[in-house]
Amino acid sequence: MDVKSIISQMTLEEKAALCSGKDFWHLDTSQSLGIESVMVSDGPCGIRKQSDAADHLGLNASVPATSYPTGSCMACSFDRELFRRSGEVLGHACQAEDLSVLLGPAINIKRSPLGGRNFEYLSEDPYLTGELAKNYINGVQSQNVGVSVKHFAANSQEYNRMSSDSIVDERTLREIYLSAFETAVKDSKPWTIMCSYNRINGTFAAENKRLLTDILRDEWGFDGYVMSDWGATTADRVKCLEAGMELEMPGKNAANDKQIVDAVNNGTLDIKVLDTAVERILNIVLKYTENKQPETKIDFEADHEEARKIADESMVLLKNDGILPLKRSQKLAFIGKFAETPRFQGGGSSHVNSYKVTSALEAAKGLDVTYAPGYDTNTTESDEALLKEAQESAKNADVAVVFVGITDAMESEGMDRRTLSMPKNHEALVKAVSEVQKNTVVVVMCGGCITMPWIDDVRGVLYAYLGGEAVGTATLDLLFGDVNPSGKLAETFPRRLEDNPSYLYFFGDEQNKTEYREGVFVGYRYYDKKRIWTCCSRSATASAIRLLNIAI
Ligand code: BGC
Repeated sequence: MDVKSIISQMTLEEKAALCSGKDFWHLDTSQSLGIESVMVSDGPCGIRKQSDAADHLGLNASVPATSYPTGSCMACSFDRELFRRSGEVLGHACQAEDLSVLLGPAINIKRSPLGGRNFEYLSEDPYLTGELAKNYINGVQSQNVGVSVKHFAANSQEYNRMSSDSIVDERTLREIYLSAFETAVKDSKPWTIMCSYNRINGTFAAENKRLLTDILRDEWGFDGYVMSDWGATTADRVKCLEAGMELEMPGKNAANDKQIVDAVNNGTLDIKVLDTAVERILNIVLKYTENKQPETKIDFEADHEEARKIADESMVLLKNDGILPLKRSQKLAFIGKFAETPRFQGGGSSHVNSYKVTSALEAAKGLDVTYAPGYDTNTTESDEALLKEAQESAKNADVAVVFVGITDAMESEGMDRRTLSMPKNHEALVKAVSEVQKNTVVVVMCGGCITMPWIDDVRGVLYAYLGGEAVGTATLDLLFGDVNPSGKLAETFPRRLEDNPSYLYFFGDEQNKTEYREGVFVGYRYYDKKRIWTCCSRSATASAIRLLNIAI
């Protein structure tokens, strides 16, 4: 179909209507000359397609889908090919579910280890983030499904996320916070970009012409459409449109559509601006509808295996003094509720209704393994009886494997973390077990950094991150050495939260301004420069990133 001739037949009201969704997830194209109303869905580490009640916080049900390791986990693979492959399987599933755009990848830079969505994001390093993101995008789009690269831009905190103002100098903005988006746009031509909720140097992202037009389109050559994050459109819809924010999501905000119609009618908005926005949206819609593959089917078992392989390549062996690999002939004690009910994904809009979840305990079926829960996941307080039971179990085994981490309640979209410590009862469990069993290995399940005051008291640490629905099988693959652990941290773990360069300013001031005072010294750039010893080794992340640089 010829987009220009379609536009010439559309009424002003139809054009305005197309610039906001029909509902929570669909575009409003149905009335415009028989073009179907396409759907978009979250992203980024699995599909969250909602057929019934809709929400952007991951509360209501979505169709069953494969839950892949989160961005923070996958980034530790440092593997471009793996990102490309994961994009392909996701794109394939989108075709099967008839989704025109997958809302991801999420590529904001981890400014502080407290960032509530750090589990979704890839790294503190823009180069690594850009390289991985572009491969993921190429993978998804190879299936003729678009991505929405989010959240553009300088959106590294959840605290006051709808209104905070990121005050960033030009060099820092360009080198740290825009750089991965630039790589993604230039190297993989994403179909869409999602603008963030926050302000950047005083101007909301949705109204930010410098960001959405001057930089994104004029400098980088972006030719898709920009959509708002869910509810990020400001009260001035016309200003957003003029800035280059074409699609308001979710819809249908009739009052905002009317603002557009009125502005054209009273001469304050040039109809050419509206026509351009409509053209950009329709180009992408037709790109999808004209090449749809409705016969596509999802093979959930094969995708589950894919999730396992990704986790195998990503989890990080932080410590091994010779205790690993474990042997199948050993008597093992699996201790900690996460061995039975793993944490494998984060909360909020990326939450997937997983097809099936494999725990470590299930994966160990047939082996000589005892289990003790060690803590209650509904509280952070220790329970003496559970600790005692855990110690008994540990004493009677050759090796104790303790499964700990942080809880759903401590890490989710919509809030930042307040501490890097694990909950008290998880800390107490590691202590109690390592006191009675010298052969203790810790498996950590969480989306970001923690502090590990106990690291010298245990013989091995496997950082599983949030390893997706096959987390249990992958954990055993690595513990038993069936797969050689090759993940490397893509973010620096400070020894103390206070060592982080953004520590004094991260949450912003009373005026809601968050000053990025550390400038370009984010993550390892700071720790390296200041020679601050971090949790595992001074510059583990830095060395891994340097190797990646050398490899290209
Ligand atoms: C999140 C986005 C997400 C959107 C739709 C927002 O709250 O910030 O990442 O894509 O909701 O669920």
